[in-house]
Amino acid sequence: MIRKSLVLSAILSLFAVWTVSLLPAQGSSPQKKASYVAFPRLPAPALSAIETIDPERIRQQVRFLSHDLLEGRGTGQRGGELAAEYIGTQFALYGLKPAGDNGTYLQKVPLVGVTTLPQTQFSLISSQGGEMPLKPLEDYVAYDQTQQPESEVDADIMFVGYGIEAPEYKWDDYKGVDVKGKVLLMLVSEPPSEDPHFFKGRALTYYGRWTYKYEEAARKGAVAVLLIHKTEMASYGWEVVRNSNSGEKSYLKLEGQPTLKVASWIHFDVAQKLAQAGGMDLQKMMADASSHDFHPVTLPVKLRAHMVSKVRPFDSSNVVAILPGADPRLRDQAVMYTAHYDHFGIRPDMPGDNIFNGAEDNATGCGILLEIARAFGQAAQKPRRSIIFASVTAEEQGLLGSEYLGKHPPIPAGKISLDLNFDDVKPLGAPEEVEVSGAERTTFYPQVQTTAKEFLMAIRPDARPEAGHYYRSDHFSLARVGIPSFSINEGMKFKGHDEAWGLQQDREYTEKRYHQPSDEYRPDMNFTGDSVVARFGFALGWEAAGMPQLIGWVRGDEFEPAREKSQAGGH
Ligand SMILES: [Zn+2]
Repeated sequence: MIRKSLVLSAILSLFAVWTVSLLPAQGSSPQKKASYVAFPRLPAPALSAIETIDPERIRQQVRFLSHDLLEGRGTGQRGGELAAEYIGTQFALYGLKPAGDNGTYLQKVPLVGVTTLPQTQFSLISSQGGEMPLKPLEDYVAYDQTQQPESEVDADIMFVGYGIEAPEYKWDDYKGVDVKGKVLLMLVSEPPSEDPHFFKGRALTYYGRWTYKYEEAARKGAVAVLLIHKTEMASYGWEVVRNSNSGEKSYLKLEGQPTLKVASWIHFDVAQKLAQAGGMDLQKMMADASSHDFHPVTLPVKLRAHMVSKVRPFDSSNVVAILPGADPRLRDQAVMYTAHYDHFGIRPDMPGDNIFNGAEDNATGCGILLEIARAFGQAAQKPRRSIIFASVTAEEQGLLGSEYLGKHPPIPAGKISLDLNFDDVKPLGAPEEVEVSGAERTTFYPQVQTTAKEFLMAIRPDARPEAGHYYRSDHFSLARVGIPSFSINEGMKFKGHDEAWGLQQDREYTEKRYHQPSDEYRPDMNFTGDSVVARFGFALGWEAAGMPQLIGWVRGDEFEPAREKSQAGGH
């Protein structure tokens, strides 16, 4: 009984917020019809559809998707397959069309699990013949990206500074030097800067991420990369590198792109010894690397590596549906919504509770996606452009499902106006702030600001842009193929609480539940905020689907070239 009345009051308070937010600023009486005036951009059927978005339906989706029977929705595990089938079934029940393979809702995502085996050998050989064998996990971590059971590397090490070639910042660490067949030693992050026009000042750009550095080196024909780990530069300790680089790692099955035989991190102490063995000073090398005039340096040291891996191909699925647009001239273009359904699954070898239920991460995002899909599917009128709904797999394995979706979208990337992503939206009550980091980089930002005002939510800026969170969720996979994309989440300020409370909830979650079996459904969770985020996302998506032009990136943004390429027919 107590629970019911709480739920009821939560709904009532949501309606109170909603009614107020829909009221015209002044001049008309608060009648039911008049309340639509503040949303002149949306037609009445869209507003009626928005109003059906219900926190209690999101609750039921979260409860089911995070149930022990779903076994933590592991990628490549039975629980993950069950979740995908369930979500596809929901899409069908909402009247959405399948947009997966062969007329189904499932898009097969071919994956390969790679485990570096103990037979692997890794050593540094100086030109005087001295050999320094390195200890796995303590001194280095390494994966063979070629997806072969064995690879050999025996090549010179070349220091390439930050390993970045960024024409828009007039920065090139490679200076046209041929690095084919070489082992590249490089720093993490990017040249330090306070200038917002140079690598975005303190904020991390994609050039600072280790994934970029591996990709760029492989594109240039290098066979191996040794990333020098330094806690202050990486923004996380060696423990994090070690823990996320031991055991099996999943990759998309190769589709002909260049890869490294050795993609590795080395401990800072090892890098120092390596520099010494070459008669050089690491501190000086690092200082040199922050200059425009830096030039690659070949060290008198080789890497000799014998990589031995267990290679295990397997499949998982994205779940993809489409709602065809109402306008025959625009329906070959789309707006997309995404939320990953996968989590860490079940670990049979772990004692005690070994199911990673992933209630908050990311049954909540799935609940929001499903509720938006239902509202669109059942709306009396459809938006002009088509709407794609995609619940993606293997996010926890490195955004792999969304990467595959970006490479194989149901509508070409150049014709997708916008992607809105939902990941880990906490069930804490009515939000007074919304987080839309990355939205300010798109031409859609004025509409986002207006809509946030209408929802009486302040836009909370990214607290730590230097940590590069933009590059760590699925919207980023879609940005990479040029689609203007961002995640929508709540900020830290909730109705009836101060900011300190919100920050405290966030800390508690990170310590006690994040990526742990304790991320479970609880009946006292309050899904009001999830429904507000769903309504906000619905309003933005509907508006984007009816705009005269496709959305783009603001001039000079790092994803603008990808957008131009995809719109020229490159994707
Ligand atoms: Zn997540």
